[in-house]
Amino acid sequence: MSGESMNWETLGFDYIKTDKRFLSTWRDGAWQPGELTEDNVLHISEGSTALHYGQQCFEGLKAYRCKDGSINLFRPDQNAARMQRSCSRLLMPHVPTEMFIEACKEVVRANERFIPPYGTGGALYLRPFVIGVGDNIGVRTAPEFIFSVFCLPVGAYFKGGLKPHNFKISSYDRAAPNGTGAAKVGGNYAASLMPGAEAKKQNFADAIYLDPQTHSKIEEVGSANFFAITANNEFITPQSPSVLPGITRLSLIELAGSRLGLKVIEGDVFVDRLGDFVEAGACGTAAVISPIGGIEYNDQLHVFHSLEDVGPVTVRLYNELTGIQTGDVEAPEGWIVKV
Ligand SMILES: *Cc1c(COP(=O)(O)O)cnc(C)c1O
Repeated sequence: MSGESMNWETLGFDYIKTDKRFLSTWRDGAWQPGELTEDNVLHISEGSTALHYGQQCFEGLKAYRCKDGSINLFRPDQNAARMQRSCSRLLMPHVPTEMFIEACKEVVRANERFIPPYGTGGALYLRPFVIGVGDNIGVRTAPEFIFSVFCLPVGAYFKGGLKPHNFKISSYDRAAPNGTGAAKVGGNYAASLMPGAEAKKQNFADAIYLDPQTHSKIEEVGSANFFAITANNEFITPQSPSVLPGITRLSLIELAGSRLGLKVIEGDVFVDRLGDFVEAGACGTAAVISPIGGIEYNDQLHVFHSLEDVGPVTVRLYNELTGIQTGDVEAPEGWIVKV
């Protein structure tokens, strides 16, 4: 498939093989010079720790086409830093921030024809990852690692604008209290597949996870972060060592305070106090903001908004953040890196 023949309006979130990906191997204590390759198939040892012991982590970020034709990366330094924290947690070598950002830029430039045009709501999604590879069988850290970045064009998450969805509180946990919840590692996602599938089978958009210690506080919405707005103009989002520190979450916290004049609270979101909120949403790179219509808990659906209408604060947050990403709204210092 070529960029020229893409139908930008019907793009979803599906794998598309683009032209080039970045690949570097860590061997003898150092990252070897990376290269752009056409081959999208990895050839790795059957004993790779990534395959057996989940020694791997990943990132997700987007490149946006601006009105003036330039290309924006949104806060890639934050993704680099988070991947370093994930690597530390799983005993994998850090990818230095400059190497991470340079690899992202190279991949965007080499696949420029796949960047959805300005105004389509689409973006080029980048997927950096680090995996443990090499011959091994014992439970230990790998002898070698691969750092790679590939990309694919994705469409606007909600065709025709923001749309609320209903979610269901899960009785499963995605992470343990002092486990790997704060690291962006595949194991957390493996643990969430079954609860997510069960929620979707019952026509919910995804599962909501409670804190694994007391099961009384909201932590995550599928693979996105939770936020809510109170009638007193407060922006509240859970804080916990098992919540993944999202960059969308971080950005909304900063914008809610500095641009919308909301009071920001990072703290406990008790699941039996949903009545305190007038709006709620899930946030993450893929959807930016996914408004929450209602939450089912103990067979009762708590409704914030009907499935047609979206709260005004959610809309303002969404417009501010997406405007910054595509260059239409002035960005806070350091948020945009031009490719
Ligand atoms: C990636 C991720 C998020 C969102 O992070 P962003 O940086 O905003 O994309 C939230 N929760 C989980 C579990 C994640 O893996």
